[in-house]
Amino acid sequence: MTPEEQKERIRQLSKELNQVEYNLTDEDGAKDQLLKTIEWRKANQIDFHPVATKDNKLPVLYAVRGYDAIPDSNLESVPGVSEAVLRINKYMGEEVEGYHLACNEFLHRVVMKDCSKKAGRPINRETVIFDCTGMGWRQLHMPALNFIRAIADCDQKYYPETLNKFFLVNAPSAFVYVWKIVKAWLDPGTIAKIQILGSDYKDALLKQIPSENLPSFLGGECTCQHMDGGCVPSQATKDNETVSTAYNTQIMNEAKTSDTVRGPSFYE
Ligand SMILES: [Zn+2]
Repeated sequence: MTPEEQKERIRQLSKELNQVEYNLTDEDGAKDQLLKTIEWRKANQIDFHPVATKDNKLPVLYAVRGYDAIPDSNLESVPGVSEAVLRINKYMGEEVEGYHLACNEFLHRVVMKDCSKKAGRPINRETVIFDCTGMGWRQLHMPALNFIRAIADCDQKYYPETLNKFFLVNAPSAFVYVWKIVKAWLDPGTIAKIQILGSDYKDALLKQIPSENLPSFLGGECTCQHMDGGCVPSQATKDNETVSTAYNTQIMNEAKTSDTVRGPSFYE
């Protein structure tokens, strides 16, 4: 990247950040964070990560509904999506990081841009519901926790101020111990946004989320009957490549040279 290009990218990002009442205490801190973000994106070739759009018809990595930029869709076990992504509902492992990055890019470059267009104002925060049903010590072992740490680190550094609320529902009793460990890795601002709930989560969720947007199995009215499998991905794994990225090797390679496969830029 030339110094001119770098300047332009910083200018664009600053503009975006200013529009969303970004909580930065000093200008130098903001500039420093932007420079680090750009360097990190460059070093890890994040700008070449593909995101699903209407045009490239890549499989989406999680269920979406109600967007213009992407057809209503559920996660499908089609070739192209790595096996790691399809397994994500059941296990936590090394591949989670690659999947998480791909989801972040999709969220910022496709979904949030679409939301902003619809709402007529910048929307750049997400509300996350993480359902722990079926989880126990097996998923909460140390390697998994270290990945939670890596993910939290990455988000706090390179996707700052993008979380609205994080609800953990159906938390197993083992999570009391886990939370003590995880909490130490998070910024106080992030901790304040996290709510850990057992099986009596319904009222807390409905306080934040309109009932028509909350899946029925979480106490809302949304059933997404027009999508295979309903509101959440439900597909099993079959004949998919095991790679550390969310998409298979062919798609990752195509994204390096094709604007269409790559989808919208982070900086636009
Ligand atoms: Zn739904």
